[in-house]
Amino acid sequence: AVTTATAQFHNFSQVRAVPQIVGADLEVPVKGGNLVGYANLDYAASAPCLAPVSEAISAALPAYSSVHRGAGYASQLTTARYEQARHTVRAFVGARPGDAAVFTRNTTDATNLLAHCLPKGTTVVVFETEHHASLLPWDNVVRLAAPAFPGEAVRAADEALSAVEGSKLLVVTAASNVTGELWPIAALAHIAHRHGARIFVDAAQLVPHRPLNITALDLDYVAFSGHKIYAPFGAGVLVGRSDWLTEAEPYLRGGGASKAVGPDVEWCADAEQRHEAGTPNVLGAIALAAACDALSATGWTPLLAEEERLLARLRAGLAGVEGVRELGLWGPEHPRVGIVSFVVEGRTAREVAEALSAEYGIGVRDGKFCAHPFVNHLLDGVSTTGCEDGTASAVRASIGIGTTEEHVDRLITALRELASRR
Ligand code: PLP
Repeated sequence: AVTTATAQFHNFSQVRAVPQIVGADLEVPVKGGNLVGYANLDYAASAPCLAPVSEAISAALPAYSSVHRGAGYASQLTTARYEQARHTVRAFVGARPGDAAVFTRNTTDATNLLAHCLPKGTTVVVFETEHHASLLPWDNVVRLAAPAFPGEAVRAADEALSAVEGSKLLVVTAASNVTGELWPIAALAHIAHRHGARIFVDAAQLVPHRPLNITALDLDYVAFSGHKIYAPFGAGVLVGRSDWLTEAEPYLRGGGASKAVGPDVEWCADAEQRHEAGTPNVLGAIALAAACDALSATGWTPLLAEEERLLARLRAGLAGVEGVRELGLWGPEHPRVGIVSFVVEGRTAREVAEALSAEYGIGVRDGKFCAHPFVNHLLDGVSTTGCEDGTASAVRASIGIGTTEEHVDRLITALRELASRR
């Protein structure tokens, strides 16, 4: 019976209890003036909004006001919703009692917040495969080359951390935004702690695709963005150990972070208030939490089954197109989330992405995906002929709730046609 039920799934929306996305029926113009259904294969950049997320935003609109400072009904209600959102996000990542959950603008803001809070002299060990958000915020940094296999990542971190004295932080992305490959974060956490270091995990691309429990994995900090987890723009979060956050100067100075102001300022001691000066993005936080709730309510089993099925179809399709090469660090069998980058022989990534959009109504991303060192590493040896800036780049297709077989098949057909056009 299970097999029959699985065989009947044709897209995410047909999996029982999976929420709909807003704009699933969006039509876009293609060459010649026709309208076609939009094949959004750019989830890794920003995922579309889930219907329950849109509903949660609408529900909060009739009565909102600034949080924490008002006795009025709207302010009290908004404060309750904002703090409930924090509670939801903490639960979503399995935070420990005492962990802080600071709302930020996005993942980049969260990594910069953590960088700001590092104890003086902290050395940060980071892989060059990171997204720039996790690669660039740190001052005192040791960069590790792209590891040839997962065990090599653990070995390189072990060696680098053992060479560092004093306060240290290991930084790693849980799922690559370039290849979708999953990193051995549990083993890396173990190594970090063996050396007295802490670990920060960039979970921006993991949480839309996989459950995350920082207590079980023994992670010190994680960050992610609402807009990659089916909530609109504007809110992200840093969750983790509160001591470094409460000991640091406020990230932003102003109202909300200050407890008493005279000639001197007494800053709030609580990690969240200390680093959330100014009026927060309450709707962003509510949306982010609603997305977490929607994924939890759906459950990961059907989501994973459907993603695996569509991803396998996508990758098999790509492998069957002559001249298309999928990129990967650790080989085709290594587990990954629904993100695939590839190059098309004889075509620049920009040409391919533009043609997919203009002729087929398919949205993908091209370039280096804010991970220049990693993409340069993966594309070492790829022809740069015709590339605008003299360096090769790649095309990325990424999937999620709302992706259908038809979207995937349209991409493969389009690539076959483009690759054969000379
Ligand atoms: N980390 C990873 C792995 C990402 O893919 C991204 C966005 O592409 C970020 C961090 C940065 O996210 P944001 O732009 O929301 O700050």
